Amino acid sequence: MENFDKIVNLCKSRGFIFPGSDIYDGLANTWDYGPVGVELKNNIKRAWWKTFVQRAPHSYGIDADIFMNSRVWDASGHTASFSDPKMDCKSCKSRFRADNLIEAHSKGKVNPDLMTNEEMEKYIAEHKVACPKCGKSDWTGIRNFNLMFSTSRGVTDDNQNLIYLRPETAQGEFVNFLNVQRSMRAKVPFGIAQIGKAFRNEVTPGNFTFRTIEFEQMEHQWFCKAEDSMGYYADFKKKAWDFLLSIGFNPEHLRYHDHDKLAHYAKAACDIQYLYPIGWEELNGIHHRGDWDLSRHQEFSGKSMLYLDPFTNEKYIPNVIEYSIGADRLTLAVLCEAYDEEKLEGGDTRVVMHFHPAIAPYKVAVLPLQKNLSDKAREVYDKLAKHFMVSFDEAGSIGKRYRRQDEIGTPMCVTIDFDTLEDNTVTIRDRDTMEQIRLNIDELVDYVAKKVEF
Ligand code: ATP
Repeated sequence: MENFDKIVNLCKSRGFIFPGSDIYDGLANTWDYGPVGVELKNNIKRAWWKTFVQRAPHSYGIDADIFMNSRVWDASGHTASFSDPKMDCKSCKSRFRADNLIEAHSKGKVNPDLMTNEEMEKYIAEHKVACPKCGKSDWTGIRNFNLMFSTSRGVTDDNQNLIYLRPETAQGEFVNFLNVQRSMRAKVPFGIAQIGKAFRNEVTPGNFTFRTIEFEQMEHQWFCKAEDSMGYYADFKKKAWDFLLSIGFNPEHLRYHDHDKLAHYAKAACDIQYLYPIGWEELNGIHHRGDWDLSRHQEFSGKSMLYLDPFTNEKYIPNVIEYSIGADRLTLAVLCEAYDEEKLEGGDTRVVMHFHPAIAPYKVAVLPLQKNLSDKAREVYDKLAKHFMVSFDEAGSIGKRYRRQDEIGTPMCVTIDFDTLEDNTVTIRDRDTMEQIRLNIDELVDYVAKKVEF
């Protein structure tokens, strides 16, 4: 937890993530990405897209609207049952999720996912589970609280005009299944992916950006035949894991968590959890959803969702393997994974973010040793900035400038000195090893490109 606080502080002071509406004392659980954070998150999204769309020949990207016809949410089941079991403390009026209270009280030994609302109420009463805020144990009963934010469109304010801010991006992929299939002449099996905002009126948001009311999801739906579906489910468990390794995660900080309790239509479901400083928590989900989603959209829209196999002339509704990961929750995990305090010779400590170079916010920093070398340094900056995000810093001692770059995880620092003017060479310092080499400016772009390749 100590590290978590340090990471949150570093995020604010170094331009990764600021509290939302900061000068108005914030708005609970909203966060704004700063100049450094937006680069990090964009690079993570790019790496994901590259892996699951660009380098996946049978997967197609889309960008669906946040607002969808409200019938979509009837079909998906969100209107009826996308809710959390909430309880209010009668004493201090704070609101909590009953499942979270049980999980915390039993230190993870009891799995509330397997309990009904009545069983959860009984457990909380029998164990006198205390309110985390005031310590009393005086609870209301459980009420289910729908997590969808709604608003109304048009000029009149009645239920007919009620629309929702999507609580997940997945439905955009499902309703476009046939549009994508036909326009891209795709054959099952194929995938549809998108990255976009989702909104949930979470009862107990918190832990920095781990659980927020507005967040981005990266979702990929794989449409396949029922008989092949379990094989693809296993494939996606592995692909999701391998992606995390490819952006620098230590496998010891990851684990699979198979779900005990499945939705009635689901054949299998699994999370990958990450060891955050707050403990093991869900990072992403892989779900075998059977043909539930497309069948429901067929039922509610009255439009056929049947796929016609051009080879066998068979008509069927494909099964879906869903892989879903929060871009913000992943960015938070990346920040926690990268954070390091290193003891240096001489007793000093440096904070360094060991980001994988491909997702590091800035790839290289250009640092003139003295102000009167700035013109040459600008030349080098211009050369590099055509290709990469480059930081330019001429203020303060070189040691301090290195530390600043270490704290935002810049993999390479290029220093311009008086020899540069003579022989066109610069010094490159490596963030992790702190080793320095000398390189000709003409070789610089290729050198950096190789280091940050993904
Ligand atoms: P949780 O149990 O943590 O609320 P979930 O099982 O409801 O998550 P899904 O609906 O499967 O999550 O959403 C897929 C992914 O979207 C999650 O694994 C997570 O990375 C991300 N996500 C979901 N809810 C939030 C949120 N409120 N804030 C940030 N990310 C979220």
